[in-house]
Amino acid sequence: MTQTATAPAADAPEARVPLSPEPAAETAPERAPEEPILSFRNVHFYYGEFRAVKDVSIDIRPQEITALIGPSGCGKSTLLRTINRMNDLIPGIRVEGEVLYHGVNVYGKDVDPVEVRRRIGMVFQKPNPFPKSIYDNIAFGPRVVGYRGNMDELVESSLRRAAIWDEVKDKLKQSGLALSGGQQQRLCIARAIATEPDVILMDEPCSALDPRSTLQIEELMAELKKNYTIVIVTHNMQQASRASDRTAFMTMADDRAGYVVEQGETMEIFTNPKHQLTEDYVSGRFG
Ligand code: ADP
Repeated sequence: MTQTATAPAADAPEARVPLSPEPAAETAPERAPEEPILSFRNVHFYYGEFRAVKDVSIDIRPQEITALIGPSGCGKSTLLRTINRMNDLIPGIRVEGEVLYHGVNVYGKDVDPVEVRRRIGMVFQKPNPFPKSIYDNIAFGPRVVGYRGNMDELVESSLRRAAIWDEVKDKLKQSGLALSGGQQQRLCIARAIATEPDVILMDEPCSALDPRSTLQIEELMAELKKNYTIVIVTHNMQQASRASDRTAFMTMADDRAGYVVEQGETMEIFTNPKHQLTEDYVSGRFG
């Protein structure tokens, strides 16, 4: 099956396909532990003629942290961005296969990409708060999707969940850009949480941060996974090994297409990998 993504405005149909039941605000949804929340089924990704990712079929389990690791350029970020259709914004891209979220293909023709991105939030490499107040950074997304509840409460609970409330509660009207790098990244996590997603994608979220801020983000991830599923791209092997439950190792084929060599429990991948390529990578022999 081939889906060709075009500009998001042209993609957004009137009718919205329900992607899943809305998650409970405070408690993790009841779900059989073995049931994946996300499944890649034979996913290939092309930038024009260039195939950047080939034949990925992996499952992501709920309330776990899954790390995508591998050498630079092997398609980790590309694969991450296929999950919430962030790549749609790039002209000429093409996705083959299926990315199932709660069993629904996010590339299905009736699926609204804006709704996908509301339910599957994203945090980027460089903290990127909007040039707005701390409050408005959080309120922006909910306003866009027409949130009708108590905005003050939503802002507070989002900031609390991102472990930054105590540091900003007295300066909600100040610019988000005035915060430190680590605080900005936690603000961005709060912003992602505010639209009530159940999956959070993190693309090297600590690579621009100092060690202390990095540790704070890792501690926050451990807390967040009680309620959210996290998929993180990281080139930091220590981070993958200490912060994630499962790891998928990717590398490049001769045609430069990235593929998943193996995936499994993080402990297994790092201490007892099945493939020599994985062993060479996690032991620092290449990459
Ligand atoms: P990683 O995250 O593992 O470093 P990326 O997903 O960023 O890898 O990139 C995978 C491949 O896709 C690389 O060869 C990269 O040059 C290419 N690529 C990434 N973004 C684009 C783009 N917007 N247009 C064309 N090629 C791209």
